[in-house]
Amino acid sequence: MRAIAWFCWLLCSLGGLAPAFAQAPVQCRNCRDQGTVPCGKHGKLLAQELPEKGVIACSVAAECKVCSGAILIDCKQCSKPSGESDALARQQLVRDWLVQRRKTIDALTAREPYFHLQTTHYDLAFNLKAATIGKEKVEPHPRMHIYGERLEALRALFVQTFELTDADVPDRMLVCMSEEAKDHGVLGPRLTGMGTANSVGLKLMGPEFVYSMWPERRTLPDDEAVHRNIVHNVTHLLLSQMRPMLFLGNKKHGWLDEGIPHWFEDKIVGRCLNFCFEEILLQPGMNFHGGKWRPAVRKLVDEGKALSFAALSQRNTDELTFVEHAFAFAYVDFLLATQGGAKFRDFLRAIKREQPTRDALPAAFGFTPLSIDAAFVQWVKATYSPLAK
Ligand SMILES: [Zn+2]
Ligand SMILES: [Zn+2]
Ligand SMILES: [Zn+2]
Ligand SMILES: [Zn+2]
Repeated sequence: MRAIAWFCWLLCSLGGLAPAFAQAPVQCRNCRDQGTVPCGKHGKLLAQELPEKGVIACSVAAECKVCSGAILIDCKQCSKPSGESDALARQQLVRDWLVQRRKTIDALTAREPYFHLQTTHYDLAFNLKAATIGKEKVEPHPRMHIYGERLEALRALFVQTFELTDADVPDRMLVCMSEEAKDHGVLGPRLTGMGTANSVGLKLMGPEFVYSMWPERRTLPDDEAVHRNIVHNVTHLLLSQMRPMLFLGNKKHGWLDEGIPHWFEDKIVGRCLNFCFEEILLQPGMNFHGGKWRPAVRKLVDEGKALSFAALSQRNTDELTFVEHAFAFAYVDFLLATQGGAKFRDFLRAIKREQPTRDALPAAFGFTPLSIDAAFVQWVKATYSPLAK
């Protein structure tokens, strides 16, 4: 409630509008009786630091001499006691959190400290350099906030797509984005307990959820590619985390483990170019039809080369070929489009309870692993254009 009221205050003070809901006369016009006002030292970055954006704490804002990262500070023109104590509590929270970040992340590297951001569901450690986003050059600090917003937006879309509640994906995630391979090479293995120093991205899929990456220059040359990489890999973490918690990639459910991250990649950034297979990732230019998979799948279907679901649903993630990745995406696309997210959620829950596909598939969708093929092929022909766009 306070946050909403405060936001209204901001709108009113910026736009000079009279609040439509004002009943009692406002006593303090400076803070609209909130007891706090936004710190004036953050310039146009203020909008990105606000609680409304899901920001809990930012290491750059924490250096502010006026608010120490609390962003909302005590109103000096009235004596609403709650304002001051809120601001002090937030300052303490930011301080404690930052000490923790320095210990968990920065102490592992010999470089200058990362920027850190805490949002509602993520901790983000960040030292990517400035980049062009859209037509604008975005400096590292605001770029970190853009990733904070993108991560929250991805989680919200995941929850919405599968008609979940917050209780289905309850764990916080740590995302670590390093500009240099050598920093990821130190942090990635330490934070995930996996992999070697020579990787582009490393994931820990439970019971803690961590993704560490660096933008390998040939495969991730610009911000859009980095965004796509984050969407793909963090979707893996969300999928594993979704209760009951289970990583599907090594249980013969590679088509779900990869198909769902591909689906979100396509949905949010319009192309599928990420493969969780370092050998592919490290070969420049390796992709399948430029990441535009619907026309490619349509073409194979027209040629009578559609993959059978029965075969596809027997593979682990690291066994999937390019074509199988594309069909995994298309089967997920088909089921979400024709059956809806709630049925897909129930199917995923059954699979994660380790029910065999031959039982879970008919229970959720009414298809057997054999009868699904004809419906899929018919849908692809009716829905996917053979023309690459
Ligand atoms: Zn006031
Ligand atoms: Zn900030
Ligand atoms: Zn400040
Ligand atoms: Zn993947």
